[in-house]
Amino acid sequence: MDTPRQPEARFACLPVEGPVPSPPPGWTWEGLMAEALAEARHAGGAGEVPVGAVVADPLGRIVGRGRNAPIADCDPTAHAEIMAIRDACASLGSCRLGGCVLAVTLEPCTMCAGAILHARLAGVVYGCEDRLAGAVCSRADVLDQLLAGRAAWHMGGVLAGECASLLESFFAARRG
Ligand SMILES: [Zn+2]
Repeated sequence: MDTPRQPEARFACLPVEGPVPSPPPGWTWEGLMAEALAEARHAGGAGEVPVGAVVADPLGRIVGRGRNAPIADCDPTAHAEIMAIRDACASLGSCRLGGCVLAVTLEPCTMCAGAILHARLAGVVYGCEDRLAGAVCSRADVLDQLLAGRAAWHMGGVLAGECASLLESFFAARRG
């Protein structure tokens, strides 16, 4: 008898190897995640799945902001990370974000993890895990794969409870 396929972590969600990288000047990781959470709340208020992201440069300036907008933009690629990367590239006038870090409320998917590597971001901090579509540690380990010689450090669990409860209340309200 077939049993429903349960999402299981196939990749170990290990803490970052070696010393945890320092946050950009003037920030804590939690402070940066609070900025991403503010973007996520805006997305939720607009009826989109509440996921938000910010990009900080090595000087600690937030150079990109993004929030989930696939419905409004009629664009399945309009994930918070993609929007934040596009915003950061536009504000820096560069297609490369070397030295920058991205904070996102939910574990990135395969598309966004690929974009993170293509953007040459130094690292990613995320809030809660995405057991269904997460491509950092839940369903794949894209950021650990050398893509054209590049990988990005990553650290999950930053304000994870707050990030998860925002998603849970959004879906609970939609079901109700
Ligand atoms: Zn994504």
